[in-house]
Amino acid sequence: MLTNLQQQPADALLALIKLHNDDPRADKIDLGVGVYRTGQGETPVFGAIKAAEQKLVETQDSKAYLGPEGDMGFVHALMPYIFGKQDPDMGGRIEGMQTPGGTGSLRLALAMAQRAGVTRVIAGKPSWPNHNQICKDLGLDVVEFNHAAADGTVDMDAVRGAIAAAGEGDAILLHGCCHNPTGIDYSHENWDEIADLLGKSPVLPIIDLAYQGLGQGMEEDAYGLRRVLAAVPDALVCYSCDKNFGLYRDRVGALYAMTKVPADLTKIMSNGHALARANWSQPPDHGGAAVRLVLEDEALTAMWLDELDQMRVRMRQVRDKLAAAGVTGGVDLSPIGGQNGLFSIIPFTPEQVQEMRAKHGIYFAGSGRINVAGLTTGNIDQFIAAVADVTA
Ligand code: PMP
Repeated sequence: MLTNLQQQPADALLALIKLHNDDPRADKIDLGVGVYRTGQGETPVFGAIKAAEQKLVETQDSKAYLGPEGDMGFVHALMPYIFGKQDPDMGGRIEGMQTPGGTGSLRLALAMAQRAGVTRVIAGKPSWPNHNQICKDLGLDVVEFNHAAADGTVDMDAVRGAIAAAGEGDAILLHGCCHNPTGIDYSHENWDEIADLLGKSPVLPIIDLAYQGLGQGMEEDAYGLRRVLAAVPDALVCYSCDKNFGLYRDRVGALYAMTKVPADLTKIMSNGHALARANWSQPPDHGGAAVRLVLEDEALTAMWLDELDQMRVRMRQVRDKLAAAGVTGGVDLSPIGGQNGLFSIIPFTPEQVQEMRAKHGIYFAGSGRINVAGLTTGNIDQFIAAVADVTA
């Protein structure tokens, strides 16, 4: 029976990790996998998380099941950061549940949307490949619109066209900030317009916020999401703590649903709970509990926000340095300065990507997506010189 299964292609990024690991050169550079790195090239556990984990070990007296919704203290503690301190549940219109990472949240959001009657998902191209993969696995059609224009800014005409062409039964999946893979985010004006358009459309917004705090700051990175939520009757928000709390492998995320009538939330969330039960039953607890302990403690919260600031500032410095290189060989690195988050795309040809690997030991996705956090004061000049060499 099992031999009926077809071989699936290896995940390109995971294959890239192996290529990098197998390269014996001491000065090789990994710009592939999407994790934050310090100036020393490390991905450390946040100090605030270490302290919370210590507390957890000392105070947790049971690991008995919590339920498909996970740790609701964690889910609620995040809400002022996501939806604003003024009115974190928008007058009782928002409820959430814990999920295994942002991926688990997306899986539930899309399955929930499907249960509600969504058959098509409108999504920018390029996007994080797992968006498409989850839709495909659920049997949802994906309609793509062009995300970035040739000048390196968002293609607003494409967004306008996509929303205008959409109707009942459609959802639109938008990156809240730090667009993966391009780093090209909507400006406040763009979000204002998108929110207005969505407010007049029957399309269900699904906002993926996986990098809050890593773009322009915690509040600024929530601007678009809050703007859209203020304009529409209902929406889903997929949140990840895996980047902004450095919890990647602990799989920490949450799904939030906003609806017009607060009384409908119980019914809506019961679908999230039922779907979770059928998928993973309950989310892993440890990381979410550590985040909750950070957010319940003023000193740990301040420490976390400070650590997050340092990450953002470092990535900004790398971006500024790349941008300052300007036209390098045959490519212009200056747009990278105005982009946000971990990723940017450099328009390398497939041959140039291969040459960066073979000749210079610099590894990144075939799309030309680089993880800017993989660059340090020790290797950034080497990277810029290699770009000049292969694109000249
Ligand atoms: N959305 C986007 C756009 C992402 O880039 C990622 C992580 N690469 C996620 C969601 C999910 O993150 P995780 O499941 O690791 O929390």
